[in-house]
Amino acid sequence: MNTRSVRFRLTAWYAGLLAAVFVLFSVSTYQLLQHYLQHSLADLLLRRTDQIAVSLLANAEKTGDAYVADEIKARYAPENYDRFIRVTRGDGGVIYASGRAADFDPTGLPPSDHTRVARLADGSKLLVAARTYQSPGGRSYILESGGPMQPIEITLRRLLLLLVLGVPLVAGIAILGGYFLLRRALGPVVRIAQSAEQITLHNLNERLPLTDTGDELEQLSLALNRMIDRLREAFEQNRRFLADASHELRTPLTALRGELESVLPDAQPAPVRDRIGSALEEVDRLAKIVETLFAISRLEAGEAQREWARFDLAQLATGTAEQMALLADDKGVAVECDAAPGVNVEGDQARIKQVVVNLLDNAIKYTPAGGSIRLRVHALGQKAVMEVIDTGIGIPATALPHVFERFFRVDEARSRQVDGAGLGLAIVKSICAAHGGLVEVDSAEQRGSRFRVELPLAQKV
Ligand code: ADP
Repeated sequence: MNTRSVRFRLTAWYAGLLAAVFVLFSVSTYQLLQHYLQHSLADLLLRRTDQIAVSLLANAEKTGDAYVADEIKARYAPENYDRFIRVTRGDGGVIYASGRAADFDPTGLPPSDHTRVARLADGSKLLVAARTYQSPGGRSYILESGGPMQPIEITLRRLLLLLVLGVPLVAGIAILGGYFLLRRALGPVVRIAQSAEQITLHNLNERLPLTDTGDELEQLSLALNRMIDRLREAFEQNRRFLADASHELRTPLTALRGELESVLPDAQPAPVRDRIGSALEEVDRLAKIVETLFAISRLEAGEAQREWARFDLAQLATGTAEQMALLADDKGVAVECDAAPGVNVEGDQARIKQVVVNLLDNAIKYTPAGGSIRLRVHALGQKAVMEVIDTGIGIPATALPHVFERFFRVDEARSRQVDGAGLGLAIVKSICAAHGGLVEVDSAEQRGSRFRVELPLAQKV
């Protein structure tokens, strides 16, 4: 998974979580304020009923109902303040009812300590609180006091507006901030991944960048660097073994060849001479394998740099193809060159020639009579590209990933007639890698193969 998708996935999660928290926060803030404001208004209204009860109704027997009504009007001026006040006797007689009562149907007396919302004719709402009162003289009253809900509604509407506009804005800023923070936090991971991508068997000495922050990312870099160390060590051991083994085998093989060559001319009778002759051939084959292994181990140790020079790959390729034309002719295979001179590269010319030879040799070996081979060399961007395209037997898809491995041969049956030990392409790969290049292949069975070598172009002088 790439970091972009990690970044987007985490941001999406974060955004979802944040949105849920903000929605929850908005809903609960709205509900809490609504509850608080209604509760405060109801409290105020109930206190007003208490005031009326204590200051006016307590003495109503003496002062009379008309006095109570006048006093309420004078003290609370319900009409002027949009209020509603109603005092009803226990027997149902209304002592006082403010003008607002006409705006809604107040029939049916509410239970004590009860609040309700009444809708007025003009559409506005009134919160009405009711309470029963028992005077010291034994009379009972029902007091109702109402106040407009409009101020509460206006406050709530403003809060809603603030939440609807403000919360997405704040959430948006937080999400954007989160995204950039995440990008910053993942930046070192991207750099570590890019550096890790650059590390191959040929630059195992390089290390991943350390962030020096003492955090998990530094630990990750350190752990990966230690892993690269272990890989380098294992790889180095492997290479050293190959170098030592092939080096040690060269001397006895040379001695063996010398011995066989010295006894060959005098060997009698003829069958013995023939046997020595074929033993010599096998020794030669073995010596070639050992030489190739030794060469591979030296290339992997980076020793190719010694013979470094600048040369024209196109010229080298066409020259080599001309030298090999006879071989192709013998097999009835046509070789066509398509290489304009001036594709300069830097490297070990003899080694690169070996690449051309091996690829052409394989193409000739695995292309039946009547087929053709095309050798192309051209510059592409900063790269020199050489292609060997044949119309031969091709390579099965299952074998394709392994053809550059040492000692790999597609199958013994089809390679029976042709000699080789499965080292030709392995050394091609080692040479290309030692020159900072690469080799790749695509192939279709019975249709042909295309080997493509890429080398860095030499700097212009
Ligand atoms: P060898 O020296 O035995 O040819 P290589 O390493 O050169 O070994 O090649 C490995 C295997 O890849 C060979 O056994 C052969 O089957 C296959 N191969 C290489 N080049 C070609 C080609 N041009 N067409 C078909 N098969 C190929």
